[in-house]
Amino acid sequence: LLRFEDVRQSYGAEEVLRGISFEMDRGDVEVVIGPSGSGKSTMLRCVNRLTEVDAGTIYLDGEAITTPDTDVNDLRRRVGMVFQDFNLFAHRTALGNVTLGLEEVLDYPREEARTEAMAQLERVGLADQADSYPAELSGGQKQRVGIARALAMDPELMLFDEPTSALDPELIGDVLAVMRDLAEEGMTMLCVTHEMGFARSAASTVSFLDGGQVVERGPPARLFESPANERTGEFLERLT
Ligand code: ATP
Ligand code: MG
Repeated sequence: LLRFEDVRQSYGAEEVLRGISFEMDRGDVEVVIGPSGSGKSTMLRCVNRLTEVDAGTIYLDGEAITTPDTDVNDLRRRVGMVFQDFNLFAHRTALGNVTLGLEEVLDYPREEARTEAMAQLERVGLADQADSYPAELSGGQKQRVGIARALAMDPELMLFDEPTSALDPELIGDVLAVMRDLAEEGMTMLCVTHEMGFARSAASTVSFLDGGQVVERGPPARLFESPANERTGEFLERLT
């Protein structure tokens, strides 16, 4: 469903992605781990064209999405993204945040947008908070609204960039539970996270990114128990 082919990206003289190649099938959950500055966010941002690649190609469902003629709006509808810092509209309720894309992007009539948005809020366990404003929600609830908003677009692929790293420890579990449910429902997910419990239980594959390269990639059990690469081992040791 998603394929990176020798993807390279630089900020000025600094090459941030140095030839990334990997492939995910539909329904796969790929967890990306790696040190700060290794290019994890950049890699995700390239998929929905928040960052442009300098070389190489990314394919979604067999179609190159890094070409000049790619319809970026359509791409962003097909690829949902959840950020560390929620990015909710402060002046809209939880429901209003979810209906926005339905009305503006998918042209849903108001009532249908409302019905669909309520269904998505229910999916993340927040139907009872539909009328709350972001300021009235906990970090974990805000993040789940962010997930509901992305899901409302019926994406083919979901990108998660450290969705729990801004949360208090007691709120992390609720967000991970929603992500686990999604994984079980067969959603294709590319997740940057350092939640090793999630990676262990939900990931099909874990990639260790270092210096803009996938240094090691494999099933979570194998990668965590017996990392083949020295740098992977060192990184995992520092996490625990
Ligand atoms: P973290 O774990 O801290 O989130 P990361 O692995 O997500 O790190 P990136 O955010 O992808 O790393 O950044 C990779 C490199 O690119 C870093 O050296 C960073 O300083 C640089 N970089 C990122 N965004 C920009 C930008 N907009 N302009 C210039 N340099 C940038
Ligand atoms: Mg990052």
